[in-house]
Amino acid sequence: MMGDSHISGATETPLRADAFEKSDDAKIERIQHHFSEIMKELGLDLTDDSLSGTPYRVAKMYVKELFYGLNPKNRPKVSTFDNKYEYQKILVEQNITIDSACEHHFLPIVGNAHVGYIPKDKVVGLSKLNRLVDYYAHRPQVQERLCLQILRDLQKTLGTEDVIVVVNAKHLCVSSRGIKDKSSFTTTVEFGGQFADPMIRKEFFDMVSFQLD
Ligand SMILES: [Zn+2]
Repeated sequence: MMGDSHISGATETPLRADAFEKSDDAKIERIQHHFSEIMKELGLDLTDDSLSGTPYRVAKMYVKELFYGLNPKNRPKVSTFDNKYEYQKILVEQNITIDSACEHHFLPIVGNAHVGYIPKDKVVGLSKLNRLVDYYAHRPQVQERLCLQILRDLQKTLGTEDVIVVVNAKHLCVSSRGIKDKSSFTTTVEFGGQFADPMIRKEFFDMVSFQLD
């Protein structure tokens, strides 16, 4: 299986053809080796008992946690239900946690996402929206692509174009290095179907600005 086969061209995370031929355990072993080499090049003494376990911890964290969303077998199973209530207004799931990493620096991207859709025949359990966002976030990412990957998956899963995704996030590569801007954050928005109508978009953004304590 290659990437997200249901997602077209530029939306896909660039993956090697052999991306999932090795087992997770084999990847962890190789990354552990390479990361220990990086630490040695930095001059660190890996016989120190505080450092000796770091290459393994980093390797396991990459494969099993931070980047678990690279592997399509980890995509959450999203079962849909018939829209029995015939709810046909905007449904918004907001302040979904974004824990990602930028693919240019491998530094954290942290923030939140707001997802809205107008149900047709199908609805999903609300927490599935959070799980899908979490899955796409856990890859080396660029925020624009993250936003688009979430949109395309939801459109397909929900059987409607009427989906909108907003991501607000801080990039540690902007706040902790380079320009070192601590206050700025980045907003991206992707939408389709009825959300192309500015009035429908406004309704969504009015709902999003409503904050619970
Ligand atoms: Zn970066």
